[in-house]
Amino acid sequence: MACDFCSSPNVVKRFQCKDFDSASRDAGVMRMNAEGRFTNVVLNSRNYWAACANCAAYVDAEDLKGLTDYAADHWREGLTELNWLGLKIHLHNTYRLFFANRIRIEEPSFTCPECGLTSHNANDIEQGYCGGCHAFTGKK
Ligand SMILES: [Zn+2]
Ligand SMILES: [Zn+2]
Repeated sequence: MACDFCSSPNVVKRFQCKDFDSASRDAGVMRMNAEGRFTNVVLNSRNYWAACANCAAYVDAEDLKGLTDYAADHWREGLTELNWLGLKIHLHNTYRLFFANRIRIEEPSFTCPECGLTSHNANDIEQGYCGGCHAFTGKK
């Protein structure tokens, strides 16, 4: 399995995403389809996107431009300047759709009602314990 953004083999994370299709009508990137005719790049996004550590960091930061620039550099080889710019637009549009359709899973956390400190520790959440107050401030 490879990173769905930059194709790096070092996948560390999967991002859940609703299914969507991305046709790059204006991207200027043409590929041969199954019937041997040239067609625009069409991407079918299904289920999830795999990401390497670098791309995952951009996704977590919701950095569309950073992600596009980073991934596009990995597809530079063998393309003319014009085709590469076209591909970049395609990637940008596709990632924009990805951000619009991705399913963000809220990580469980406990926020202390006294001091506002947030903990992601499973025991703190379970017991309502605040490390800032050193007390079980979440206990009802
Ligand atoms: Zn990547
Ligand atoms: Zn507290």
